Amino acid sequence: MASPIKLNPNVAGLPAYNAGMNVSAAQQKTGRTDVVGLASNENPFGCSPTVTAALRGVDPSKYADSTCTVLRGALADKLGVSSNHIVVGNGSEEMIAAVCRAASRFFSTTLTVTPGFGLHEIEPKANGAKVAKVPMTADLQFDMPGIVAALQKKPSVFFISSPSNPVGPALSRDELRQIIDAVPAETLLVLDEAYYEFRGEGMPDGLQELQESDISYVVLRTFSKAYGLAGLRVGYAVTSDDLIAKAMSAAKTPFNVNAAAQTAAVAALQDEEWMVESVAKIVSERARMAREISSLGLFSPDSRTNFLFVDVGCESNQAFEHFLNQGIVVKPWKELGYSTFIRVTVGKPADNDRFLAALRQLVAERPNFGSFR
Ligand SMILES: *Cc1c(COP(=O)(O)O)cnc(C)c1O
Repeated sequence: MASPIKLNPNVAGLPAYNAGMNVSAAQQKTGRTDVVGLASNENPFGCSPTVTAALRGVDPSKYADSTCTVLRGALADKLGVSSNHIVVGNGSEEMIAAVCRAASRFFSTTLTVTPGFGLHEIEPKANGAKVAKVPMTADLQFDMPGIVAALQKKPSVFFISSPSNPVGPALSRDELRQIIDAVPAETLLVLDEAYYEFRGEGMPDGLQELQESDISYVVLRTFSKAYGLAGLRVGYAVTSDDLIAKAMSAAKTPFNVNAAAQTAAVAALQDEEWMVESVAKIVSERARMAREISSLGLFSPDSRTNFLFVDVGCESNQAFEHFLNQGIVVKPWKELGYSTFIRVTVGKPADNDRFLAALRQLVAERPNFGSFR
């Protein structure tokens, strides 16, 4: 229907964010009560009991601290940075929006990689920026020469998730240093470390590496994944200087992080042991799933996250329906060139067993049978 309202074309024309199917929607659709959600990279073990206890003390009638002073203080201590360099968001997704409002200027170019995280493209476009993408290599590693060459064109912002969502690998120390050396003075590097806690041995701490450099950066981290607080929405940005932090604070809404989220995040930091234990269980299940997937002859790149990106060798939408019929929600990938991939979150062992059994069945019965690689 034609609208008399002139909409902002940058926003009205945005591609939709590909959110995973919600578990209750899947229950309704299938009529099953045993649906397991493996589409959104949540922590299958919930969150720390320290968090649930602290939440009982939240007063819903009071506005929360608009500057998240206590939480920023706790993060500053943990990370060894000044709290003036930290901005807390309603999920780190809000900080992606804030960094774009602050730095992805109209008609400028933002660089990212593909396959990549949807909001690394959507948010720059919402601000009128163009988005250039460097594809991953054929074996789904970061294309370092491609990234270095694209940085020479001086994009205003470069978004990269490491460990990568949806692909899985993390930048090695050497790769990260190549990027640091290639980032021009006019480019803001946004290193999205949503899966930092899952990166495992031998992988660098991106924030530490960047602190030792002299480039302008924003590191994004979240309480949604390893700490199990996805439903409360809290993540944060650590910036190279207080001017960037100030601009990002100005770009967010004033009371963006609600009282429950602030209380929960502070409590979660008081029980890192719970987080470390749940991450260890997930990492060990991840290795088991990767072995089983590879023994089925399917390709899945090395993952340093809490999920696996799997080439199932048939259209991902068909695979999605197959899993849904068995009460398992996965995320079908739709980006051009990757439409035979699904992304599956590492769940509890019994749920992973269900996924693996359904995958075995898919491989036996799949349409267009044949290896795509
Ligand atoms: C999950 C995720 C986020 C956003 O997490 P929030 O829940 O908004 O904190 C950001 N970046 C990547 C790459 C993610 O996978």
